[in-house]
Amino acid sequence: MKGISTIAFSGGVGGAKLALGLARVLPPEELLIVANTADDFDHLGLHICPDLDTITYTLCGRANRSQGWGIEGETWNCLQALSELGGPDWFRLGDRDVATHLYRTQRLREGARLSEVTAEICLALGIGQRLIPVSDDPVRTIVHTAGGDLPFQDYFVRQRCEPRVTGFRFDGADRAAINPELHAALSSPDLSAVIFCPSNPFVSIAPMLAIPGMQEALLAARAPIVAVSPIVGGTAVKGPAAKMMSELGLPITPLAVAKRYSDLATAFIVDVVDGDQVARVRELGLACEAMPTLMNNDDDKLRLASSVIDYCHALSR
Ligand code: GDP
Repeated sequence: MKGISTIAFSGGVGGAKLALGLARVLPPEELLIVANTADDFDHLGLHICPDLDTITYTLCGRANRSQGWGIEGETWNCLQALSELGGPDWFRLGDRDVATHLYRTQRLREGARLSEVTAEICLALGIGQRLIPVSDDPVRTIVHTAGGDLPFQDYFVRQRCEPRVTGFRFDGADRAAINPELHAALSSPDLSAVIFCPSNPFVSIAPMLAIPGMQEALLAARAPIVAVSPIVGGTAVKGPAAKMMSELGLPITPLAVAKRYSDLATAFIVDVVDGDQVARVRELGLACEAMPTLMNNDDDKLRLASSVIDYCHALSR
């Protein structure tokens, strides 16, 4: 049997869309989806992994598509009851979602690794692809803001990304080990594509790249590394990436994202509306193509996934 041919690095919403497209075009045993864990946090005694869960719910067809997170048809009785008790209700936990966190927390307490628990959840939900956390060790994004340092979910959910960002740090990253399954796949001769999904470059992709040895392992892989721009037409499709760029003094362009990956990536994909950026990205020494990258429905996801795979294969010839 062929091993992993494609590795996709993903955050939550943007990454999960392309991951679903890849899952539709590749045989399940060939795809490895690597999730950011720096958004993870402990809340109400539960261990919550927002990016892993968004990808899981997307792959098994249970994701709430309009909301972009959580489960379709979710009910909120637990949160309502918690709120009535005066408990913290700023992080919206649906009833079915709570079950995922309960199961995970219990298994971690029993000594299971996050990778094992993730595999168990995927198996139970009928997901045939390999979905793994980038590391089994805790890495936590801390957002530096004008008003002080904030744990990621405090910034992202409780304060709705309102504080002005001045930088980030990834606590624990220096002590984290790359998931051994990812390490093995990166050094496999079967590998033909490494994809950075259109995920937030600062808080979804950067924490994964901060793990010691990750950049070296990527550079040693015998496959092209292709990043898809999350910035389209001068803004982010969703989430705070554009706001972060402007607060960090960066232009809100695909070029500015490409610069962050230029020491690592082989190629960068911009959206067709940003065709004027192609020549400038190529000046960074990256290959670059423009293609439709907006994934508004499953056909879009499948089409982009096929195009990215074809592009990777063309690059490695
Ligand atoms: P999060 O962890 O939930 O914030 O999700 P990600 O980091 O994976 O994705 C967030 C990024 O995805 C944002 O910067 C969006 O601009 C980008 N994004 C979301 N949907 C799309 C899309 O359809 N096409 C492209 N090109 N980017 C997208």
